[in-house]
Amino acid sequence: MTAAPARSLALPSAFLAAALSFPAAAQVGQKLATDRPNVTILATGGTIAGAQPKPGEVGYKAGSFSVESLIRAVPGMEKIAAVTGEQIANIGSQDMNDAVWLKLARRANELQKDPNVNGIVVTHGTDTMEETAYFLDLVVKGDKPVVLVGSMRPATAISADGPMNLYNATSVAASLAAWGRGVLVVMNDDIHYAREVTKSNTTSLQTFVSPDRGRAGAVLFGKPTFYAKPIERHTSGSTFAVPLPDKLPAVLVVYSHANAGRELVDAAVAAGAQGIVLAGVGDGNATAAIIDGLAAAARKGVVVVRSSRVGSGTVARNVELDDDKLGFVAGRDLEPGKARVLLQQALTKTRDVVQIQKYFDEY
Ligand code: ASP
Repeated sequence: MTAAPARSLALPSAFLAAALSFPAAAQVGQKLATDRPNVTILATGGTIAGAQPKPGEVGYKAGSFSVESLIRAVPGMEKIAAVTGEQIANIGSQDMNDAVWLKLARRANELQKDPNVNGIVVTHGTDTMEETAYFLDLVVKGDKPVVLVGSMRPATAISADGPMNLYNATSVAASLAAWGRGVLVVMNDDIHYAREVTKSNTTSLQTFVSPDRGRAGAVLFGKPTFYAKPIERHTSGSTFAVPLPDKLPAVLVVYSHANAGRELVDAAVAAGAQGIVLAGVGDGNATAAIIDGLAAAARKGVVVVRSSRVGSGTVARNVELDDDKLGFVAGRDLEPGKARVLLQQALTKTRDVVQIQKYFDEY
């Protein structure tokens, strides 16, 4: 466990203050000898652990509170699970990186094998939550629930959303119905599949959506209901799950817009990118200049995946561009950040674009 910041949660309301005087059952760091499910919470920071200088202020610092403080602020946690908290990192998720991902994935894989653990919760900032969720969906081996959760309001805010989100996430992680569904995201009473979910609003509490295929389910006051199962390969069925490499391949994202030149593509190649994801306009399109740059990169062995900046819908092969001739991969409905995550994993196995297209068709 890395050292957590020394400060303790300055609670904004009498409601949360009451939660702090919780009985011993909610004590963190201690497995409880009961027949309740055991859930391990792996904390990485984010707004859910964020503190304002003064309650009511807009500004705050993500990743200010320890996992113990977060658990203590949730009334009734002991009724749904015996929880154990571990601090993996304490950062704003805008700073999420490969090193933290690999640490998190290794620990999640250990917990998958631990017979005393029923489910795993990961507290995380919302900015890159969908990327971390999809990364874990590809590399965690096992059927136990892994549930990412965050909040839009910091822990010290009036009506902080973190405690209810954490309560709901823990109940999903403790639920047998969540087994075998891959990595999930729980936010604002919704359950999403890692592959489908995306942040859609910079500030709203109702920011997470699954635009193409809809939610995985809903969770109300700790009672989850699930809808359709996920279709693509994930977790136990993923070929990327284990062993994890020490380092992930360098993949960069290039954004397309009107009048864009190829400078960023050439810079990505010069920086040593093994893969480039195009965040294209429309159906993964870009200016002739960018496409020329990407074609030149592909000829040098850099793997190019076309995705879209639009936010929903699919990017199919050979529609407006001849992917066969250009040597590109079509990213289907993965948004650019997630296309990057899958391309990193694909590049740990091969540089063959036919095989990489197959991965993008299956995951
Ligand atoms: N910047 C924050 C983060 O991603 C935002 C949040 O958690 O809502 O860590």
